[in-house]
Amino acid sequence: MGGPGCGKGTQCKNMATKYGFCHVGLGQLLRQEAQRNTQRGRKIHDIMLQGLLVPTGTILDMISNAMLSRPESRGFLIDGFPRELRQAKEFERIVGRAPDIVIVFDCSMDTMVRRALRRGRVEHRADDCEQAIRQRLETYYTLCGPVLTFYQQKKLLCNVGAPCLPLTPLPKPTPQGNKTGHAVAHNLDLSGPVSHCVCWEIW
Ligand code: AMP
Repeated sequence: MGGPGCGKGTQCKNMATKYGFCHVGLGQLLRQEAQRNTQRGRKIHDIMLQGLLVPTGTILDMISNAMLSRPESRGFLIDGFPRELRQAKEFERIVGRAPDIVIVFDCSMDTMVRRALRRGRVEHRADDCEQAIRQRLETYYTLCGPVLTFYQQKKLLCNVGAPCLPLTPLPKPTPQGNKTGHAVAHNLDLSGPVSHCVCWEIW
């Protein structure tokens, strides 16, 4: 798990190679699907461009297909999943067990924004434009809290990067926004929705 530009794609590739796991890169699979000129492809394309989440049914279908196509694999590394609590619960219901570990790439927001904007320029990724990144961050910070709490309670969380856990409460934002947004971003209370003015103060 991790926000846009946190480096999860790169590191998941490295880990999958090192440990011989099958890498299920959801962002990558979805981008491939979005290029198809089908009804489903166009729908996924529009959702991604808006920085919103693709419906859970589609995501679980893709994960199932990817996993079932590699039955010989010694393990699976699912990159970019789950993004909301419903996905976490549905995954366990379908697979019949929790994952062995959930790795969170905890990266400051300004670093994520800088990297995603650069990637947009270099790789011409349509959803790495300013407007989509804004929404992707908002989607991430709004929905990831309950997922982190869910896995923290199961003692499955492994946090990589700046410590964001244990959870600490967010300072109350002022009407103009919180002037210490950057510091706050390192200390996010991920147990609930993050106030937008705190998120965007560092933008
Ligand atoms: P990423 O490259 O991981 O940042 O993902 C790019 C986009 O793909 C996201 O902004 C979402 O629109 C979509 N996406 C990736 N993973 C998921 C997921 N688990 N659930 C829903 N949408 C996803």
